[in-house]
Amino acid sequence: MPEHAYTCEVCGLAVHELFLGSEEVWEAAECPRCAGRAPRAKVNRFRHIGLVHEGVDEATATFLTAAERKSGKQIRTPKQLRQAEERAGVRPMEASEVRYARQAEVHDMEMITRAAREGGAGAALDYVDDTNITSATGWDQTQLRRWQEATDAVGNTLDLGGTTPSDAVGAA
Ligand SMILES: [Zn+2]
Repeated sequence: MPEHAYTCEVCGLAVHELFLGSEEVWEAAECPRCAGRAPRAKVNRFRHIGLVHEGVDEATATFLTAAERKSGKQIRTPKQLRQAEERAGVRPMEASEVRYARQAEVHDMEMITRAAREGGAGAALDYVDDTNITSATGWDQTQLRRWQEATDAVGNTLDLGGTTPSDAVGAA
């Protein structure tokens, strides 16, 4: 399936669209962030295997400042991309990290699907919330339950709704 890159004229966001063989390729897309006009990119995309940021436009939008983009500067070569990554303090993922990230994604989808099957949409949403909290905080299930019990208790007695994860863990 051909994939075409678009870059928003207003905010610089890079958008990728997949087209079926029979579909007509748009000359411009609508930016999902600011609804600005995003014309189809003229440059050929390059693939930097295992890279989180993929493609000329996305790399340009990610690594260059608004002023640099406005002056027409682009990241066009793998060398420029490496320099930009170095400047930003990021690096391409190793093949093993890519594999791990994919496995984690598949595992998450399986868990969400299972939660939905067993407990409905609410359970699936709870699972997503829990996973977001544990991945943001690095907590294990015990710490998560402790925080949930603490916030439930506060909510039941005071209806404050202002307890944050760090409050609960700091107190524990
Ligand atoms: Zn935009």
